[in-house]
Amino acid sequence: MKIIITGILGQDGANMAEYLLKNTNAKIFGMMRRSANPNFINCKNFTKHYNFEFVYGDLTDSVSIDNLVRQIQPDYFINFGAQSFVGCSWDIPLQTFDVNATGVVRCLEAIRRFKPDCKFYSAGSSEELGDVIYTPQDLNHPLRPRSPYGASKASARHVVKVYRDSYKLYAVHGLLFNHEGTKRGEEFVTRKITKGVARIYHAIKNNQIFEPIELGNLDSKRDWSDSEDFVDGVWKMLNQKSPKDYVLSSDETHSIREFVEKAFNHAHIEGYWHGEGIEEKYYINDTYIENKQIESSCLVKINPKFYRPAEVDLLLGDSNLARKELNWKPKISFDKLVEKMVCFDIDNF
Ligand code: GDP
Repeated sequence: MKIIITGILGQDGANMAEYLLKNTNAKIFGMMRRSANPNFINCKNFTKHYNFEFVYGDLTDSVSIDNLVRQIQPDYFINFGAQSFVGCSWDIPLQTFDVNATGVVRCLEAIRRFKPDCKFYSAGSSEELGDVIYTPQDLNHPLRPRSPYGASKASARHVVKVYRDSYKLYAVHGLLFNHEGTKRGEEFVTRKITKGVARIYHAIKNNQIFEPIELGNLDSKRDWSDSEDFVDGVWKMLNQKSPKDYVLSSDETHSIREFVEKAFNHAHIEGYWHGEGIEEKYYINDTYIENKQIESSCLVKINPKFYRPAEVDLLLGDSNLARKELNWKPKISFDKLVEKMVCFDIDNF
């Protein structure tokens, strides 16, 4: 069995490879773009595995995708490569579309022409739902994206269905709500918070003053899970009798504010909110700290540069279908996820 995974240096690609190397005998081809400075940190557990190989390719270069599918003849093609950050999709909208939407067409075309029985996974996102009209959201929820990123993923959803219907390909586009973990990039709010908490934890321990974490909108709500739980659901989606999209989510929603509180709690730092709007701050609430400068310190403050031109206010998934038909469920709760990320970042600071 041969499997191509794109986005291998990213969170989901690396977690998928780890999962498949552990649970199957498949040969994994991890696709990466050429870069003068690649970061292999997420892949450190498997770069030397006998069943793993890096291959060069680029979702914007159809020659590279065609050649990989033609030469490798994969049984599965799992596409986690993406411009995955919503925030900067307003700055680079064309690249976002080229990678996230047209890139999916390039993969589907390569599969159609060179290996039509290869099963294809396309990474869909709850950002496709955007300005939601009901809660919790399932597969029937209309696509109402609020960002170039969300629109690019919604386009990919349509094109996957078109190729599935037109050419009878086994192609699925999972609807995955936010998923995080210790491989998450620091530009995402969860990792930004847990790395910030680790920095402040060590400063307090050493009696040093510190800068607060700067965040944008604290009131948006997300349905967060562990990426390691989701790769299991993705593999199950790829191994059904017939191709069908599913929602993967925790079916719980929490605000950024709650994430902040929980993350500091796991580092045994208590805080309180004070002020309103962009003046709102989270202050340390610890009378046991010797250094008085630290005692009055601010842990979190607002920086409006992290506000988005348009916000997705609330995401809450309904993954009942996946739980029933795929026999899938997440193992890591929201609380455990925050704890795992905070502890990892404190230990690896
Ligand atoms: P997304 O759901 O894929 O956009 O994941 P993110 O982690 O990038 O953002 C989740 C939510 O956190 C969004 O509603 C953001 O507006 C909000 N947020 C608040 N402050 C920040 C910040 O400093 N960075 C990021 N990335 N998001 C922030």
